[in-house]
Amino acid sequence: MKKKYLIIIILAVVAIIVALFFLLRKPKIYMEKKFKPTIEVVNGTNFDIDTTVLTIADKILNLDTVKIHIYYGTVTLEDDDGIIVNTFAQKNPFPHSYTIFIGKNVNKAQINRILSHEMVHVKQYETGQLIPLEDKKVKYKGKAIDLQQLEYKRRPFEIDAFNEQMKVHSMLNRIVYE
Ligand SMILES: [Zn+2]
Repeated sequence: MKKKYLIIIILAVVAIIVALFFLLRKPKIYMEKKFKPTIEVVNGTNFDIDTTVLTIADKILNLDTVKIHIYYGTVTLEDDDGIIVNTFAQKNPFPHSYTIFIGKNVNKAQINRILSHEMVHVKQYETGQLIPLEDKKVKYKGKAIDLQQLEYKRRPFEIDAFNEQMKVHSMLNRIVYE
């Protein structure tokens, strides 16, 4: 008789644990949508990209305390391109604040790739790897680079950004569109 009660108690405990596991488990989508409140996105474009930028900043690049503005760029920007502006040199009056301009004719297929790339630059700035200097110069990983002397594709922070952007982009696809 005692053995029977013991089995019932054990079964009840197991049932309670299983029930608690399912009750307390947060749905995946709920966890993904929770972002650090210190990460802000100001989206001035027609694209629905707030969650995309938050996901890249918070979940993929693990940034904290950044404000990202995204707007359409001027005529100087290629149609399918993006550019990041953080050009206050050392005296940035708005630390952790960045503006990404995208080309006016950027389409849905291009936007995530562009954002992945520009957000890698945000990470480079935020970690202090990339430091803007006066006179179109920057410092990258301790080395001063004159931007007027080195073409775009050969700049080491661009080479790194292009490599990193692919990883960011594929992680983004996994997290947001899975
Ligand atoms: Zn770049």
